[in-house]
Amino acid sequence: MSELDGQIAVVTGAGRGIGRAIALKFSAAGADVACVSRTEANSQKVADEIKALGRNAWAYAVDVADAEAVGACAKQISSDCGKIDVLVNNAGVTRDGLLMRMSDEDWDTVLNTNLKGAFNFVKAFTRPLIKQKAGRIINVASVIGLIGNAGQANYAASKAGLIGFTKSVARELASRGVTANVIAPGFIETDMTSVLSDEQKEGILKEVPLGRLGQGDDIANAALFLAGNGAGYITGQVLTVDGGMVMS
Ligand code: NAP
Repeated sequence: MSELDGQIAVVTGAGRGIGRAIALKFSAAGADVACVSRTEANSQKVADEIKALGRNAWAYAVDVADAEAVGACAKQISSDCGKIDVLVNNAGVTRDGLLMRMSDEDWDTVLNTNLKGAFNFVKAFTRPLIKQKAGRIINVASVIGLIGNAGQANYAASKAGLIGFTKSVARELASRGVTANVIAPGFIETDMTSVLSDEQKEGILKEVPLGRLGQGDDIANAALFLAGNGAGYITGQVLTVDGGMVMS
C-alpha cells in the first residue's frame, strides 16, 4: 500500500517547477491529483503526465488571486473529485525591485497571488475538510519570509504573511483533525530562479552548507511527508528545506 492511496490532492501552481514535482510525487504515492495553474496548457500537461503513470488527474486554469473564480473552481474540483484530502497552496510569483521603486501594482500582484491566493483556496475548502474531520493543508512559503531580502519586500511580506496565516489556520482547524503546515524552500532550480545570473547563483551557493542548489523533488519529498501518515501529529510548523541556508 502506498502512502497516499485513495487520497485526493489539490495542488496549485502545479503546471511547472515545484508544484509539478509535488503533483507527480503525490501521484506516485497513490494519490489522484487536481492540478491547478494559471495557464490551462500547463496544468493539462501535468495532468496528462499523471494519467500516463496510471493515476487519475484533473486540470484547472484559474487565477488564485481571484476569490470568485477560485470559489467556482473549488466547486468544480469537489464535484469532479468527490472529496479532497490534501490541499497544497504552492502558486506564487515574484516582482522584485527595491522598495523606493516598487510600484503598487507589483506589491499587490505578489500579495494577492502568494497570500490571498492561499486564503482563497483554504476558505473554499475549509467546510468540506471540517465535515470529513480530516485533511492536510500545506502552504509553500520561502526562507525569504523568515529572513527578508533586499529587493523582495513584497515577496518577503507575502511569505511571512503566509506563515502567520498557516499558524492561525492550524489553530482553528486542529480540533477538526485538519493540520496546516508550511514548507519554506531555499533556492530551488525552477523557471522562477532561472532569471538569476550565474554570478548570483554562485553567491547563493556559498550560503548553502549542503553545497548544492535545491530541486523540485527536494520540496516534493517534504510535502509527501507532511501529507502522509507520519505527520499526523504535526501542525502549525514551518519546515525549512534549504540545504541548511537558514538555521534557527
Ligand atoms: P514557477 O516555476 O514560476 O511556477 C509557478 C507556478 O505557479 C506555475 O504553475 C504558475 O502557473 C503558478 N501561478 C503563478 N501565479 C498564479 C496565479 N495567479 N494563479 C494560478 N497559478 C499561478 O515557480 P516555482 O519556483 O515552482 O515556485 C513555486 C512556489 O515555491 C512559489 O510559491 C514560490 O514562491 C515558492 N518558492 C520557490 C523558490 C525557488 O527557489 N524556486 C524558493 C522559495 C519558495 P502557470 O504555469 O500557469 O504560469
